[in-house]
Amino acid sequence: MTKKDIAIIGGGPAGLMAAEILSSAGHQVTVYEAMPTVARKFLLAGKSGLNITHSEDYDRFATRFGASSDRLRRALDAFTPDKVRTWAEGLGTETFVGSSGRVFPVVMKASPLLRAWLRRLDAQGVKVLTRHRWIGFSGDGYLVEATDGRKVVHPDAALLALGGESWPRLGSDGRWTPWLKERGIAIEGFQPANCGFDVSWSEAFRQRFAGEPVKSVLATSSAGAISGEFVITRHGIEGSLVYAHAHALREELAAGGKAALEIDLAPGRTHERLMRDLGRQDPKASMASRLRKGAGIDGVKANLLREMAGNLDLSDPGQLTGLIKALPIPVQRPRPIAEAISSAGGIGWDEIDETYMLKALPGLFVAGEMIDWEAPTGGYLLTACFATGRAAAHGIEAWLGPR
Ligand SMILES: Cc1cc2nc3c(=O)[nH]c(=O)nc-3n(C[C@H](O)[C@H](O)[C@H](O)COP(=O)(O)OP(=O)(O)OC[C@H]3O[C@@H](n4cnc5c(N)ncnc54)[C@H](O)[C@@H]3O)c2cc1C
Repeated sequence: MTKKDIAIIGGGPAGLMAAEILSSAGHQVTVYEAMPTVARKFLLAGKSGLNITHSEDYDRFATRFGASSDRLRRALDAFTPDKVRTWAEGLGTETFVGSSGRVFPVVMKASPLLRAWLRRLDAQGVKVLTRHRWIGFSGDGYLVEATDGRKVVHPDAALLALGGESWPRLGSDGRWTPWLKERGIAIEGFQPANCGFDVSWSEAFRQRFAGEPVKSVLATSSAGAISGEFVITRHGIEGSLVYAHAHALREELAAGGKAALEIDLAPGRTHERLMRDLGRQDPKASMASRLRKGAGIDGVKANLLREMAGNLDLSDPGQLTGLIKALPIPVQRPRPIAEAISSAGGIGWDEIDETYMLKALPGLFVAGEMIDWEAPTGGYLLTACFATGRAAAHGIEAWLGPR
């Protein structure tokens, strides 16, 4: 094999995974990273435990990427959740399956894994150049801005792994989109995914309940009925249960301007039982007491019910039961993309061939969140970033091979 010079632009999970594969095949790999250190978003993901993959049945897992599931399937088949776990263990990070089926490192953080990974890359000869920002094309080369000035690099092949647009202060800021558009690449505008939503709370409710979790509820949207918990924030609602509905709510807002998350505040009790238990309460007792004794609802849940009741007559057990079982929380808009866990949008699948090469720019490959796919939280995002990084690396090898 002839040793080739390969540029990987973007040092997140997708780029580093590609660097690992290509350097292990003996190529000279240089990672160009705009920030002072690599993988900042990966480290941030570690702050909430680093949900690295998911243990559910693999055929189910592979459908979690919505309309992109088929396009991602080959890459995922080659780097399944089991392989993600084996890979992490190979870097000294044991993993475990949490109660939800999500997989985490035993140490519940990313830094030991990243340190071991960077040591492996170093041992395989990967050169990591931080504070090196790609700022566009220059002829058939890549223009890179570093602290000591600008230079044009001419690798044998290159991979862009620049991420999406969420949390731009960690490096993935989407500033690259015009340069690819100029070269005719279709890019779907980035939108927040796995994000919170604004709700117009009354000032009194906001003051009293911002930061409070609403636990053990069932939330329904066109995404289906999902149980879990969410958090009341100053602006609206956040948390894993909201993220699970974020795609559906975002699409409904975009289509018709209106969307609501419907909450069952007492999923353990049937409609009939609630009607009976609430009907038994002393009509002269306070609403708080009737809700607590008749429905087991108090605190933030009782106040959320009142906040959203509008003109409904809560003294009527029928109306009250209906509201407890299906309390609509109208959402106004997604929170800004800078706060979102991930982004939807990016390079269109039709721009990419099966090997993750841009059809219009032979020799230039793409991977990770900068491609137009999205997935819920649950370890799906990182797994697909690793998997596409690997797939693109193999694409680069195949492209360089016969030339
Ligand atoms: C708070 C938070 C928690 C998360 N938790 C999880 C989780 O538990 N599980 C999970 O699966 N996913 C999680 N994610 C999502 C996951 O971290 C991302 O999907 C993943 O990091 C994307 O990887 P990537 O390599 O495509 O891009 P990124 O990680 O965004 O990396 C892209 C890199 O490219 C660099 N770059 C950008 N532009 C340039 C340029 N012009 N020149 C040079 N370099 C450039 C950036 O600085 C960055 O280092 C979380 C995200 C956030 C924000």
